[in-house]
Amino acid sequence: EEPQPQADSTKEGYHERTEMEPVLVTRTEEIEEIRSKLPAVAAEQRIMEIIHHFDVCVVTGETGSGKTTQVPQFLFEAGYCNNKQMIGITQPRRVAAVSMAQRIGEELNGFAKVGYQIRFDRKVDNSTQIKLMTDGVLIREMSTDLLLTKYSCLIIDEAHERSVNTDILIGLLSRIVIYRRQQNNPLKLIIMSATLRVTDFVDNSKLFRITPQVINIDSRQFTVTNHFSRRTNPDYVDEAITKVKRIHNRLPDGGILVFLTGKEEIERVVEALSEPNTRRTTPAVQFSSKNSCLEDEFMDANVDEEVVNDLDDFKSDEQEDDIEEGVDMTQERSSKKLKVLPLYSLLSTEDQMRVFEKCPKNTRLCVVATNVAETSLTIPNIKYVVDCGRSKQKVFENGVQRFSIKYTSKASADQRSGRAGRTGPGHCYRLYSSAVFERDFPQFMDPEILRMPVEGLVLQMKAMGIDKIDNFPFPTEIPNSSLKDAIRTLQCLLALDSEGKITELGNQMSLFPLAPRHAKMLLIGNQNKCLNLIIGLVSAMSVPNLFNYPSSTSDPDNVKEDEDKKESKLPVIQAQADVLQSLAAIAAYSWTPTSDICVSLSLRYKAMRETEELRKQLCRLVAQILAPDGVSTLQKQLSEPLNIPTPTQISTLMQVVAAAYIDQVAIRQHLVHPSEETQKLSVRQVSRTPYETCSGQVVYIHPSTIMKQAPDLIVYESLLVSSTDKVRMRPLTVVSLSQLSLLAKSTPLLTYSKPLGGVYKAKVYEKRGETYQESWVVPRFGFSQW
Ligand code: ADP
Ligand code: MG
Repeated sequence: EEPQPQADSTKEGYHERTEMEPVLVTRTEEIEEIRSKLPAVAAEQRIMEIIHHFDVCVVTGETGSGKTTQVPQFLFEAGYCNNKQMIGITQPRRVAAVSMAQRIGEELNGFAKVGYQIRFDRKVDNSTQIKLMTDGVLIREMSTDLLLTKYSCLIIDEAHERSVNTDILIGLLSRIVIYRRQQNNPLKLIIMSATLRVTDFVDNSKLFRITPQVINIDSRQFTVTNHFSRRTNPDYVDEAITKVKRIHNRLPDGGILVFLTGKEEIERVVEALSEPNTRRTTPAVQFSSKNSCLEDEFMDANVDEEVVNDLDDFKSDEQEDDIEEGVDMTQERSSKKLKVLPLYSLLSTEDQMRVFEKCPKNTRLCVVATNVAETSLTIPNIKYVVDCGRSKQKVFENGVQRFSIKYTSKASADQRSGRAGRTGPGHCYRLYSSAVFERDFPQFMDPEILRMPVEGLVLQMKAMGIDKIDNFPFPTEIPNSSLKDAIRTLQCLLALDSEGKITELGNQMSLFPLAPRHAKMLLIGNQNKCLNLIIGLVSAMSVPNLFNYPSSTSDPDNVKEDEDKKESKLPVIQAQADVLQSLAAIAAYSWTPTSDICVSLSLRYKAMRETEELRKQLCRLVAQILAPDGVSTLQKQLSEPLNIPTPTQISTLMQVVAAAYIDQVAIRQHLVHPSEETQKLSVRQVSRTPYETCSGQVVYIHPSTIMKQAPDLIVYESLLVSSTDKVRMRPLTVVSLSQLSLLAKSTPLLTYSKPLGGVYKAKVYEKRGETYQESWVVPRFGFSQW
């Protein structure tokens, strides 16, 4: 029996309930049947009692207990949309926002208007009553409506993930709730989280003055038996394949869910398992020979080196057969087919949704997923989990990005195994030993705010009028150094003044759903006659992983001589500006927006669709700002298909890029002798030429470059570490010394120009005869001299 409602009227923060007319919803029998089994539905009265009487609460419960799909429906039925206000739900992942909107709409059977909004896609209008969105979208909405008056309730979902945006939202909302109460238009804030790490939000007096109410949904989680491996095999991908085959061949019915770290691994497993009657068709790939440096696809060669260690039991070289251990074998063994589906964020939405399709009779479902399936999406009928115990993590250190595969946390390993116990007792096969688990897995993952650069966030907050960022109630404070870096970058872009106050330019930049540098490009491009091209370029730069050819994903230190160049089929716009290849991509796509063109040009269709979507959105925004009276004309003009730029336009584009990345310049350690200048180099030679950044770090050009020479000065987009520990830069464009000093001194391209101040000096070397001599001085960006 459900415990009685317990909205204690003596507790601090208790309010009398506002009377509301409930909304009657009739659902299909099938849906009612499913709902009746959900723990959240059993707890409806308890949850709603608290929400009615308190402004802030925290709802926790096992993944799959029905928090995300049910709580919005409870609110809707209770009448929280009656005054034309909406119920908003945020998600850290786009996949979840879209699929949950669909599911909630289905369950509500047409009685409510359910929409969603993510950065590149929206299905919302004036009549929307329940809106799912990514946390970033809600933060943007705050810049025009700080008190979020459109919403009667806001659910911040998956708060345990501690994404930067979720953290900021909770900080901001902790104050907004108080204002809304004062204005007699209370906002209900519901923080939802899977694991019980609620102390970060609850016992944090800086965050909530009144301790939030905590409601725990007791779920009927069945027992899951964890089977550790006797030793930790570094090639967990191969091991996962073997394990799935064994489970499928030997164990009773029930879906299999495999956790891996990224697209490449997943596709390898899907391929190996999809072939009928496969034995070991995939070679045991040597990880060190196949690495990738691309954002979503990084595999670190050395990551597992420390894995085989003294803690593991070496005696049992023959790993198995633990597979039948503890499993109820009274059921028929499987003679079924295996339906294998991948699930990761780079997949198209339609493909992602296939995991929810009904599985045909006589077929066992096997989903091979990243940690998307850990808490955001619950795949029905999973009985077996195979967990590699790792996840891909993005780390920034001194401005250098590093993607590496690391052990996940104990908390997330437990989440993963929990996926096997939704519909009955389950089994989790952990591809690591219990000793490694105990010793090497951290209890929890660090919140994202401790790992990411925050300039976008700082600009957004400054634009909202939050000046003292160090006083802001973050669930976890921004590290001092990353706050300093962010302010410095924004000052360099002239978005903040020397005191850290937001400038007019900064305010304008904050209006765009873009990284500050990209917003700046738009604003300075506005002064030149190629705004449509800049919009296209910025859109392409804002979407990661446009290109599909291996050179962009393979290990920079293992590129075969010039081999990769064959695969890029885009025309080279300007051999000194890699960045313009993205423009070439969007230009081609803008004429023929089809998946065929993407295949033939080796572009990623999903990414190109997003780029084009963003381009349209930016055209609208820019037109609204520049020509409030003639929005549609200008918008139409801007969004026409893009032509390849003329030479004059090319040089303007290169300058605009340089201006926005003015603090990210690298200079060649040894300047080229004039006679060497015209010599064509191989990719390998180009990528072996040492450069030095403004802070004196030695870096090399990423071999995905189109450059055939190693120029003196390069503006780069980002730095990343490759498997040999070399720091690689993704080049954007070449700049000339005179351009650079001009940009640095007076930033003449800027709308609000202001001298950058300071004396910039750098040591460089010139080849004189056989020796290199220190000789001349170029701009160097020593911020300490400000
Ligand atoms: P929680 O948020 O507590 O993790 P959810 O509300 O996401 O739980 O899931 C509740 C149930 O709804 C799960 O059993 C899940 O499988 C099911 N479900 C969610 N989305 C879909 C969908 N698109 N199709 C079918 N079932 C779904
Ligand atoms: Mg959920």
